[in-house]
Amino acid sequence: MIRYDNHSAGRHFLQIPGPTNVPDRVLRAIDHPTIDHRGPEFAQLGLSILGRIGSIFDTREPVVIYTASGTGAWEAALVNTLSPGDRVLMAETGHFALLWKRLAERLGLQPEFLPGDWRHGANVDAIHARLADDREHAIKAVCVVHNETSTGVVSNIPGVRQAIDRASHPALLMVDTISSLGSIEYRHDAWGVDVTVAGSQKGLMLPPGLSFNAVSAKARAASKQSKLPRAYWGWDEIIESNRKGYWPWTPATNLLYGLDAALDQLLEEGMPNVFARHARHGNATRAAVRAWGLEILCANPDEYSNSLTAVLMPEGHDADAFRKLVLERFDMSLGTGLSKLAGKVFRIGHLGDFNDLTLMGTLAGVEMGLALAKVPHRKGGVDAAMGSLVGSPDEVAAKRRAVAAAPA
Ligand SMILES: *Cc1c(COP(=O)(O)O)cnc(C)c1O
Repeated sequence: MIRYDNHSAGRHFLQIPGPTNVPDRVLRAIDHPTIDHRGPEFAQLGLSILGRIGSIFDTREPVVIYTASGTGAWEAALVNTLSPGDRVLMAETGHFALLWKRLAERLGLQPEFLPGDWRHGANVDAIHARLADDREHAIKAVCVVHNETSTGVVSNIPGVRQAIDRASHPALLMVDTISSLGSIEYRHDAWGVDVTVAGSQKGLMLPPGLSFNAVSAKARAASKQSKLPRAYWGWDEIIESNRKGYWPWTPATNLLYGLDAALDQLLEEGMPNVFARHARHGNATRAAVRAWGLEILCANPDEYSNSLTAVLMPEGHDADAFRKLVLERFDMSLGTGLSKLAGKVFRIGHLGDFNDLTLMGTLAGVEMGLALAKVPHRKGGVDAAMGSLVGSPDEVAAKRRAVAAAPA
């Protein structure tokens, strides 16, 4: 057993952009005796989830649930639809785009990487130009990370769809929403996405261990022709088994109990309210960073992420030394800089089970940490965030009041 010699009072602040804090209600749901995954009680659980999971993706198409981290769902999206040697167009938005590209290479695909500076989202015009050039239709899929978790930059998915359509190109559109689903507006059907990839441990507020593919009819048709080998990841067998609420293999029963409770929580709040809450917290966080006089990594305000903010450290100061100090002093985990951003940025996660006061605790920890680490900054970030929260409407609280005031 792991021994924790220095017990910390109060709750740890897990303010990395995933895994996120798991609500008590979800923890209670997971704490349940494991049941027979072929029995009637399991089928009820399965059907309850499968009947509602589509509303999180805003889709009426099947959503395939895997026992795997998000990386598994990346692989599933590719092996279900493509054949060895196929070209795929990918946008270099940051570390996660790079990992998805590397995975595609290992599967024997030929990714083309549209270069990016890790401070902007996918370049819609460059995607259009490349597809318009591809008269033979050698490119079989366009893959974009919706919310690039390493940079805090959101790509314009409807814009990518339009770029594909303007080029009259038949490529599939695949989108990684691992850190945006359940926190930033996303519409699988309306945006014409063919495969949406998601994971459990970010906006869905679950521990790691589940991941998802939402699949369009066009993607399922492509899967009939595709030749990459697949066994565990195959969609058809899972979708068939799901009809009765089951999976072909032993699913992660207790994580599914948690998912059922997380769906209750998200749908009770209502997805528009979930998105509005994250937008308020994104705005307030950015107000704090500006007041500190620090730089937000995302260079385009239209592409700011409402689930996390990556902050550039002033020259000569190590972001990881700062993070270490914040962890030791305040028991708060902040996100590290990934690959080429290592040491240069820290990331504040503001997604999942998160409210105004969790945000204020988080930002107070950052501001005190900046002072202790002697990072050059101005005071007043916490004040600026409070001003932003007080000055912007809280739709969720307003709805709660309206419900309370309504005649029974
Ligand atoms: C977290 C994350 C991943 C990786 O998911 P794992 O669950 O660690 O496999 C991929 N893409 C994005 C955008 C992420 O945020």
